[in-house]
Amino acid sequence: MAVRIAMIGTGYVGLVTGACFAELGHDVTCVDADPGRIARIQRGEMPFYEPDLEALVARNVAAGRLRFSTDTAASVRGREAVFIAVGTPSEGDTGRADLRHVFAAAGEVAAAIDTFTVVVTKSTVPVGTNRRVADRLREVLGDSARFAVASNPEFLREGAAIRDFMEPDRVIVGAEDDRAFAVMARVYAPMAASLRLLRTNIETAEVVKYAANGFLAVKVGFINEIADLCEATGADVRQVAAGLGLDHRIGAAFLRTGPGWGGSCLPKDTRALAATAEDAGVASRIVSAAIAANSARKAAMVERIRRAAGGTLAGRRIGVLGVTFKGQTDDMRESPSLDILPPLVAEGAELVAYDPGEPPEAPRLLPGVTLVASAAAAATDAELLVVLTDWQSFAALDLGALARAMRTPHMLDLRNLFDGQDVLAAGFARYEGLGATPLEAGPAA
Ligand code: NAD
Repeated sequence: MAVRIAMIGTGYVGLVTGACFAELGHDVTCVDADPGRIARIQRGEMPFYEPDLEALVARNVAAGRLRFSTDTAASVRGREAVFIAVGTPSEGDTGRADLRHVFAAAGEVAAAIDTFTVVVTKSTVPVGTNRRVADRLREVLGDSARFAVASNPEFLREGAAIRDFMEPDRVIVGAEDDRAFAVMARVYAPMAASLRLLRTNIETAEVVKYAANGFLAVKVGFINEIADLCEATGADVRQVAAGLGLDHRIGAAFLRTGPGWGGSCLPKDTRALAATAEDAGVASRIVSAAIAANSARKAAMVERIRRAAGGTLAGRRIGVLGVTFKGQTDDMRESPSLDILPPLVAEGAELVAYDPGEPPEAPRLLPGVTLVASAAAAATDAELLVVLTDWQSFAALDLGALARAMRTPHMLDLRNLFDGQDVLAAGFARYEGLGATPLEAGPAA
């Protein structure tokens, strides 16, 4: 039976999960405090790039199951479940999660509740936050039978968000009130029978989310360190990762070396995890080491580019492929490009970058970098082409044309996206990836 849902926040998580809940047959109203964002969505324009999202939203709006509003009170009234999916960025320099949007939303929701409502936190929040949300609701509603809380952290990845949501490895529901769990079970009931829905207490659900992101950060940091070892010893990290990933105790995912992790989740969530552990008087040596190693990784990439450019950057024209934190998204939040490119500009390099996601924030965040509309324009007259983001569409690039357009056809692939032999065969003179010996084209026959 369809559940009447309100979704507070139409960011990556709120808009995708709201639209997916509608696709599952529920009746969903998505709310955002930003009227411009709601107006855009109502015109059918997505506020960010996510594959297939526009069609999903349009289909469910047309079916009458999905609508958008700026009016929280009207949208919350009569709903069985209200999901809070607002941002939880880092708070200043402390690394703690800034929960002001969560508590503001909880207060607005509390003021509007008029029937039994489950208030579900979908935002990533440190352990203990849901209890504080319940306190906030109680302040407004008294010790009322009209609400219960649940923690339902989200694990979707930008760029694959719809599929991740529709085919999750698991759904975690932290709920101690049986009525809350019953509503959550109905919310997820239309999903495949194979869905692994794990019911936990509230603290456990909160910790699962941070533990997952902490572990993924450690895993990427680990393969980055192994890549350095490979490079220094003549091993090849791609083959090492393949050999490692076939071990089912380890698994193949997140074993791809790169220029350091970034994005809207891993950086802030690892910082918040370390801060939460500190507040609890518990050591977080491993996650803290992963954070430090990642900063060092990004700094090492600057040196790496300098070396590949011949030791000096001043006056060098360098083409850059990708500036977003990963492919298939236009999200620039804590993208490695923001740490790697500005020092190159400061040293006098002429950077010409192309990103297929056309991230609207890029010109503001990357002053001094010329943003162009094609890979060919980025490569033209360049002495080095640096691959910084793993866009799938780069696989279809005409490498031969890029090589011909360059002054010196050298590629530094910081995502190990290309096969070095293919790159040389297309006409590049040198291919350098991470965690392997650089390849040079042989003398022309
Ligand atoms: P976002 O910043 O893209 O979007 C948040 C939205 O909430 C904004 O549009 C903002 O205007 C709106 N908002 C803030 N306060 C509001 C209020 N009181 N009422 C109505 N709207 C309000 O955030 P996001 O990337 O979607 O992340 C949301 C949460 O989900 C965060 O806690 C994040 O850690 C978590 N998360 C994100 C991802 C991801 O890939 N982005 C994945 C899993 C979990």
